This record gives sequence, C-alpha cells and structure tokens, in this order.
Amino acid sequence: MIHNSGEAANERPNIIVLLKQVPDIEEVKFDTEKGTLDRSSAKAEPNPFDLNALEAGVQIKEKLGGTITVVSMGPPQAESALRDALARGADRAILLTDKKFGGADTLATSYTLASAIKKLGNFDLIICGEKTVDGDTGQVGPEVAEHLGIPHVAYVSEIKKCDKEGFVTVSQMGEYRYLTELKSFGLITVTKDINEPRLPSLRDKLKARKSEIEIWSVDDLTNGADRNKFGIMGSPTSVYKITIPSVEGRRGKIFRGTPDEATKKFVEELEKILKV
Ligand SMILES: Cc1cc2nc3c(=O)[nH]c(=O)nc-3n(C[C@H](O)[C@H](O)[C@H](O)COP(=O)(O)OP(=O)(O)OC[C@H]3O[C@@H](n4cnc5c(N)ncnc54)[C@H](O)[C@@H]3O)c2cc1C
Repeated sequence: MIHNSGEAANERPNIIVLLKQVPDIEEVKFDTEKGTLDRSSAKAEPNPFDLNALEAGVQIKEKLGGTITVVSMGPPQAESALRDALARGADRAILLTDKKFGGADTLATSYTLASAIKKLGNFDLIICGEKTVDGDTGQVGPEVAEHLGIPHVAYVSEIKKCDKEGFVTVSQMGEYRYLTELKSFGLITVTKDINEPRLPSLRDKLKARKSEIEIWSVDDLTNGADRNKFGIMGSPTSVYKITIPSVEGRRGKIFRGTPDEATKKFVEELEKILKV
C-alpha cells in the first residue's frame, strides 16, 4: 500500500521524479525497414522534459527542504542519465534494469515504474515530463497515476504553490488556463515552459560520479507485483510500423480576373480541395 510520507516529517516533501534516457533526437536515425529507432546512431541523454521535471523538484526542495528520488527504467547505460540527475540536485537514484523489462509498451513501462514507487512506499509528489522526445506518447505519467490510484494533473506549466505535504496548486498549459489544486498526494507532468533546467557545476558532476546508483531488477519488484505485467509479456500493443511523414512545402496560386471572377475561382478551388 502506498501512503503519504507521514513518518519522515523533517524530510518532506518527499518527491519522486521519473526520468528516461533517450537518444539525441537531432541525430538519431530511423530504421524504416524494421520500423524501429536505431538507438546506436546517436548519443544518449536525459529526456529534456524530464530535466524540467527534475528542476521543478529541485526548486521545491530549495524552498521547503525534502528529498528527491529519481527513478528510471532502461538499459544499464541509463545510469549516466541518473548521474546527471544527481549532479543537478537529486538525492537518490534508482535504475530499473533487467532483460525482462525489455520490449515494454507504455502500459508495461508505467506498471514497472508504479511497482517501483510502491516499493519505495513513502512519497508526497511525483513529477514527470509531459512526454519523451523518442516515444512521444505522453501516456506514461497519467498511467503511473492510474496504477497507483492517485490523482494527476498533466501539462503543468507553473507550480503556484507547494506545501510540505506535497499538495500543489498548478497552472496548466492549453487553450484555457486551469488553476488546479491537488489536495492529496499525486502526480504532475510538466511542460518545458515551467522552468529553465540548471546546468550542473563541475564539482557536482565529480561528486555524482562517485555516488551510488541503486539497481533494481524484476526480482526486486515482484513482492506485490505481477511479473507477467513487465516487459513484452505485459505489453498489449506493438508498433506495427514507423514512417517519416513527407513534408510538403508551401504552394502559391494566383486567381486572376475581376474581383468577382477571382473570388468565384477561389471558392471553386476550395470546394475541390474540401470535396464539398
Ligand atoms: C511493443 C513495444 C515495444 C517497445 N520496445 C521498446 C524497447 O525495447 N526499448 C525501448 O527503449 N523502448 C521500447 N518501446 C517504447 C517504450 O514503450 C516507450 O519508450 C516507453 O513505454 C515510454 O513511452 P514514451 O517514451 O512514449 O513516454 P511518455 O509517455 O511520452 O513519457 C512521459 C513521461 O513518463 C516518464 N517516463 C517514460 N518512460 C520512462 C522510463 N522508461 N523511465 C522513467 N520514466 C519514464 C518520463 O517522466 C516522461 O517524461 C516499445 C514500445 C512498444 C509499443
């Protein structure tokens, strides 16, 4: 059972940040034959939106105190993204890595992350990026909240207020700006507008190099979790194909004649395009 972190009162708020390592999206190549990303074609880095999530957590910690635990699911190389997070202000880093987590879709990914959060037990607020730059679904954050049975607010562009219990008042990006209060511990996903992630100092980078990254495998999570729900076994969706959409440039057309004639031709053209 998860619960609000009552007993560690002086450590509050206890914040969990979910961070994924992604390939540099400017460099990565698509294998259109196989319909997959060729991850070896680009260097890996922390998902940019997750750095905004971490920065939001660090800013709360600077105001109120508390702790930040960063959790990532990925291959062993994702350790470098977690070291980067420690250098930027996280206190604890956990890497969920195991062949059995491989081939996970968003449902299995969120189940695995939620299982790790349940094992951690005490937290006041979970912060995610709004999406990743590779998978780009934006599903994992809200799905984690569903698995945990807690409320969530997506696309948060400003944290107006946060208290020691992790209860937040947030503003969302979008056509309408909703001011939402989370009156229980919950999860938010943040947009890039929320802040400018800080760069770690050399001293912090060196310190993070020596810090411990906790490694959890399937066996560390199965006390209470269903191992059939991890990885490819727990993934009801499969990527059928990835295609790169062709980008069509702008085309101009001049309608000549009197204003009435030109307007008539213009309307006829529109009707053809819209098939009315
Ligand atoms: C059938 C199938 C097989 C796949 N196999 C693989 C595979 O073998 N290897 C692979 O790399 N990808 C694989 N993927 C892609 C993988 O499912 C997604 O990358 C993953 O589920 C996260 O989804 P997303 O990237 O769209 O995250 P989003 O929903 O866009 O992410 C939102 C936020 O959730 C959090 N988050 C997301 N993923 C993680 C994570 N892993 N760790 C911590 N926090 C996270 C971050 O805060 C992020 O900003 C597969 C997908 C499918 C459908």
